[in-house]
Amino acid sequence: MTSVAAYAAPAAKAPLERTTVERREVGEHDVLIDIKYAGICHSDIHTVREEWGKTHFPLTPGHEIAGVVTEVGSGVTRFKVGDRVGVGCMVDSCRECENCRGGVEQHCLKGNVGTYGSRGRDGEITQGGYSTHIVVDENYTLRIPDGLSLDVAAPLLCAGITTYSPLKNYGAGPGKKVAVVGLGGLGHMAVKIAHAMGAEVTVLSQSLRKKEDGLKLGADHYYATADPRTFEELRGNFDLIVSTVSANVDFNAYLGLLKTGGTLVNVGAPENPISLQLFALIGGNKNLAGSMIGGIAETQEMLDFCAEHGLGAEIELISADRINEAYERVVASDVRYRFVIDTATI
Ligand SMILES: [Zn+2]
Ligand SMILES: [Zn+2]
Repeated sequence: MTSVAAYAAPAAKAPLERTTVERREVGEHDVLIDIKYAGICHSDIHTVREEWGKTHFPLTPGHEIAGVVTEVGSGVTRFKVGDRVGVGCMVDSCRECENCRGGVEQHCLKGNVGTYGSRGRDGEITQGGYSTHIVVDENYTLRIPDGLSLDVAAPLLCAGITTYSPLKNYGAGPGKKVAVVGLGGLGHMAVKIAHAMGAEVTVLSQSLRKKEDGLKLGADHYYATADPRTFEELRGNFDLIVSTVSANVDFNAYLGLLKTGGTLVNVGAPENPISLQLFALIGGNKNLAGSMIGGIAETQEMLDFCAEHGLGAEIELISADRINEAYERVVASDVRYRFVIDTATI
């Protein structure tokens, strides 16, 4: 084991503080990554505040990791020292179940091993990317193409794949009308990616406050959902709606915006159950779906797609001593559009 510098939450709702975490020795199939940047995802905050259930403390969050390989195990074939790499939301899975074999390791039937707060094969609780180094199996390590800067690439490992996967799987592309609900960390990537895929993109946001940004990011249209006329004007308009918000929205109203056979896919995770009038699905053969990150191969495909189209996240780069302040601002939706920690400051 090697101790490396990190920021960790010592207890639920306690501020994160500078400390060290233990990393395992580099195994046969492992790579040691010198982390350069780590994005702050809203999930990190939910987890350290125990809003999604019990957490093992102390916990170092972070599952939007970008860095450089500095050591490889004897059996590693896919990476070499000096390679630019990323790590997303998972660092292992059973590799044998139907879902692992099918390339959807995020849905491993035995449960994937999360990048932080999960129990790994060695029995230890995993610790995430707000840290200077991490040891990861090469099969759960992604390659960051040369065309992408590491700082704007880091958020792609969660926000990028979370939006790319449903956009691709539900057919966003030329001739398709796609709406993105919410223009935050996830939403801003959904707009960029859907636009790059060739779809006609509409942002549905509470107000018109970020309209200028939305259009710059690639949206063709921008509507305020606080205005009831939006729901009349856009009735039956969209092939696909991707909802990125974690607050409860009126799903019945949004389903009304779909064309016949259209799909509303939810990637945000509202805390409370929703109320759904099933007639909103029956009339027009509508689909209501969910989507969770993506598999390893699909995540690589997303990174390659983003590099090809010059898509990185819009970020605010911060030093590690500002993590707690950044958390407050994420909760207040006061970030454009992702905080990224410069891990050299840890
Ligand atoms: Zn995340
Ligand atoms: Zn599995």
